[in-house]
Amino acid sequence: MTFEAKHGTAIGSGAENQDLALTGADWALVLDGANPPAGVDTGCSHGVAWIVDRLGAHLGAGLDGAGTLAAILREAVIATVADHGPGCDTAHPRSPGATVALARLVGDDLEWLVLGDAAILFEDTTGRVAVETDLRVNELPEPPDTAEGLEAFIARYRNQPGGAWFAGAVPEAADHAFTGRQPIAELRRILLCTNGITRLTGRYDYRDADLMTLATTNRGPEALIDAVRGAELTDPDPQRWEGKRHDDATAVVVDLH
Ligand SMILES: [Zn+2]
Repeated sequence: MTFEAKHGTAIGSGAENQDLALTGADWALVLDGANPPAGVDTGCSHGVAWIVDRLGAHLGAGLDGAGTLAAILREAVIATVADHGPGCDTAHPRSPGATVALARLVGDDLEWLVLGDAAILFEDTTGRVAVETDLRVNELPEPPDTAEGLEAFIARYRNQPGGAWFAGAVPEAADHAFTGRQPIAELRRILLCTNGITRLTGRYDYRDADLMTLATTNRGPEALIDAVRGAELTDPDPQRWEGKRHDDATAVVVDLH
């Protein structure tokens, strides 16, 4: 059995790439920093890319050790909060955070965790592709249309019970991640993606299995990035989508056999 990971990442329409992919001997992760609108107070001066970098460093250190994925994520959030220092208000409802997808070999199993709309695709030994993701952020009631209403909405739902959870400033978020494990013997490969990649299935006509097929071509994850940029650039009506024209797009494909 092997754990051969290839990753790719591309900046979207923003000024910096707030996605991150990291891999170790037996683990892989992707993070996607959530960007507050320009000018909105977040309780601190640290940018989203800084948060993602800190979380990634602490997760990588944790994944090289023991403990459950949820416990590793919880400790990484605690360590990231400590990195902010006392001048930052990490209890602020807008304190920056990230979506997360983690996978790691443990004995004969692959353990996984997703928090937010990052995704992990699993191709089994029969070629069937399944996906795990956390779309709770899409299931919240419609946000109000006043600025005050929006801030109250975020305070009510962001990293709150019944709302949507992100990794950043609230260690309890780790307890709300979706987790599981699967015998390695049943798996051929996995693909971890940020939502800049999974818009291929959410917006365009790709199936989950198509993403896996693209990822296993010679260009690997770069083929997924090419596909999403191609779909965006030929979209006849890009205005119909919320969010950026091009989001940061990141993928890691891991061959397990
Ligand atoms: Zn800070």
